[in-house]
This record gives sequence, C-alpha cells and structure tokens, in this order.
Amino acid sequence: MVGTGYVGLVSGACFAEFGHDVVCVDKDESKTARLLRGEIPIYEPGLDQLVADNVRAGRLSFTTVLADAVPGSAAVFIAVGTPSRRGDGFADLTYVYAAAEEIARTLDGYAVIVDKSTVPVGTGRQVQRIIRETRPDADFDVASNPEFLREGSAIEDFMRPDRVVIGTTSDRAREVMRALYRPLFLLETPIVMTTLETAELIKYAANAFLATKITFINEIADVCERVGADVQDVAKGMGLDGRIGKKFLHAGPGYGGSCFPKDTRAIAQSARQAGAPLRLVETVIAVNEERKRAMAERVVAAAGGSVDGATIGVLGVSFKPNTDDMREAPSLDIIPALQQAGATVQAFDPAAVHEATKLLPDVRWCSDAYEAAAGADVLVLLTEWNEFRALDLERVRSLLARPIVVDMRNVYRQAEMTAAGLTYHSIGRASIA
Ligand code: NAD
Repeated sequence: MVGTGYVGLVSGACFAEFGHDVVCVDKDESKTARLLRGEIPIYEPGLDQLVADNVRAGRLSFTTVLADAVPGSAAVFIAVGTPSRRGDGFADLTYVYAAAEEIARTLDGYAVIVDKSTVPVGTGRQVQRIIRETRPDADFDVASNPEFLREGSAIEDFMRPDRVVIGTTSDRAREVMRALYRPLFLLETPIVMTTLETAELIKYAANAFLATKITFINEIADVCERVGADVQDVAKGMGLDGRIGKKFLHAGPGYGGSCFPKDTRAIAQSARQAGAPLRLVETVIAVNEERKRAMAERVVAAAGGSVDGATIGVLGVSFKPNTDDMREAPSLDIIPALQQAGATVQAFDPAAVHEATKLLPDVRWCSDAYEAAAGADVLVLLTEWNEFRALDLERVRSLLARPIVVDMRNVYRQAEMTAAGLTYHSIGRASIA
C-alpha cells in the first residue's frame, strides 16, 4: 500500500484484517516513524485498535522503503494524494506518477498495480505507460479501484461498502482483485467490474452527484428562509421518495473536506477539456464557494450587523464530525472572515485543534465547548460533533456575554433554545429564524 493517509492506512489495515499480508509504505518519515511506534497519525474511530491487532498478528507492517514492500506483492496499491493543481483546479497527478515510476523500479514478478487514488480518466493508462517505459521487462497489469470510504466511518465503509468498483480488462488482474476482496464477495457486496476509464469516471461522477445533492438542499434552504418553510421537513418529505433518498439532504454551511471540493473541480476541468462541459457541476462549485463566504455574514447579521470588537465562540472546525481533517473545511472561510470583520474568535474542536492551529493561527483554542462559549457575543455551531448535540443550554446561556446562537447544522430546536433564553438562528428554518 503506497501512501498511508486516510485512505491508504485504513485500506491497508482492513486488507490485513481480511487476512492478507500488507506492507504500508509512506515517504513521510515522521508519519512512518509514528506508525512504527504504534501511534496513529490521524484521528479515525477504531483505527488504532485495528492497526494494533493486525501488527500484532504479523500481517501489517510499515516502512519508508518501497523496495521492502513491492517485490513479492500480488498487488501494489497507489493511495497517494491527488490535490487540486494550484491555479487551474485540475487534479495534480504528480504524486501518482512519481509513485508509479518508483514502483516500476522495484517490481519483480507479476503484480497488479492498483490505483486507489481518485484520478481523472486516462490516469490508469498513463500509469501503465510510465511503468512500461521505466521497466520494459516488467510483468504487470494496471487496475482502477476507487475508494468510497468516508472519514469518520472509514473502517465500517471499507468493510461493508455499498459496492466495490474494479476497472481492468485483464482476466489475470481481475482474479487477483477478486482474491483480495474475497471476504466482500462472500458478503454478496455488489462488485462493478468494468474498464479502467469507466472505473475512474464512476468515482468522480459519484462525488459530483453527492456535492450536487448537498448544494441543491442548501439552495432550497435559502428559499425556505424567504418563504417561511422548514428545510428539515422539505428534506424529509423529499427524501422519503425512494428515487431521491434521504441521505445528503442536510442543509448546512456548504460542503468542504478533502474530496468534494477538489473532485468537483477536477471533473469539471477534465470534462471541459474533453469537450463535454458539466455545466451543472460548474454551477455547484460556484454556488458552494459563495455559500461558504456568505456564512460569515449570517453571523454578523445575528450579532446585529457588526462583529467589530466582538468575541465569537466556535464549536467544531473540522469539515465534519469524527475526523481531524481540515482540508477545505468551511471554518477556513468563515473564521478568517469574522476576524477580518473585527471579531476575536475562540474555538473548540474535539480532534482537529492540532491541524487547525496551523491554518487558523489567530484563534484562541479552548479545551471544551463551555470555554468557547464563555464571554462570547455569539456562539456558532459549525461542526456537528456528538458532544455538541446535548449541551447544557442553561449553562451556555449563563456563560455567553450575549445570548445568541447560530447553529449551522440544525442540531437544535427553536423551542429548547427559547426555553433556555437563547436567540437562535439556524439554516433554512424560516419559521424560527
Ligand atoms: P493523504 O494526503 O491523507 O495521504 C497521502 C499519503 O501518501 C501521504 O501520507 C503522503 O506522504 C503519501 N505519499 C505521497 N507520495 C508518496 C510516494 N511516492 N510514496 C509513498 N508515499 C507517498 O490522502 P488521502 O486523504 O488518503 O487520499 C488519498 C487518495 O484517496 C486521494 O486521491 C483522495 O482523493 C482519495 N480518497 C480520499 C478519501 C478521504 O476520505 N480522504 C476518500 C476516498 C478517496
């Protein structure tokens, strides 16, 4: 497994749990050193135990040296980052291509080179070319096996996925992939066997669709606020239609994270280059960007029109609960905008403070939700960690300088907030705004 980030480490540990021997390779020496010491470099529920169990069982090991991992492997997974290329939004494939070249140099017997990173159509073919050029004698096939796990529930998602997508036209590679995923075949997990190109596109199309669904309900929430409707009920009424489904219909501050923003940009750019622009997705990207910026204005409005000299308490800064991932989190737009408007921000997050400190240097970090509320003029709930779902509202009220709460995840109900003496603002619930 090349790359031990959110995807590589979870996939490696889960394949080991399936009973396979897995060697995880990462160039990042400090990350690998931590893994070798038994520490988990990311916050992901259950991962520490899974890694420890499989290391103890002798099925999972870590190294920085590719040559210690590749020779003798039936499959070599590429699970390195594919961030947005600076400037144009295309996927930056530098890490993928570098990994392919390095892998090629250490190949010995037949191996399937499996791309698990999210990549544009054509990347698998390019990986094939790179390996062939680097090692004309190599015996290999290339497959695409995009990953659909979600941070925060990554192990469960990997172990019990809705489907597994495998893209390759080689029968030999298919056999290897089948053997790797055998435990899931036994669970009757749907397996989509297809070509490299189709597999690559499935991942982007899925993420672009989910980002569209979120953006759709976010815009419906804006309509709700204008016309006096409740977006929670609209979403419920829509979602009960089996053709629509109730997931991903939660209005909020706009999507963020390590995948949706970069993947929507990447597919939009690739599609435009291919001569088939995705105008819908392009609009989703623009609407979402605008929305994240507009969220700070909501806080300003809730504060009465200005936050200059005010203190804002923020609950949660990671892009979603149960992760420490800060990549493109809405907090990275909202908090600096509030600071620019003259506010002092004090915040608490259960897992992301270590990461967030680097990105939000001027925030005062608190050790719990109540400390973040203490003395604040507005309390903003930005990420719906479970521990923010049952706050002692009387205590919050007594700690706040002014009793104003902006709930960007619709965690609370108007009645309980009013009962606690709090002025409550949420998303798309006009009757209570
Ligand atoms: P990440 O940034 O957390 O991890 C990537 C790791 O690869 C880093 O530790 C880096 O040091 C290592 N690396 C880079 N080049 C290397 C090389 N040549 N040799 C060895 N190690 C190398 O990234 P991630 O979040 O795990 O994402 C990886 C891929 O999976 C991306 O394409 C992403 O879009 C996709 N993906 C991510 C998620 C998610 O929830 N994070 C879900 C599905 C798919």
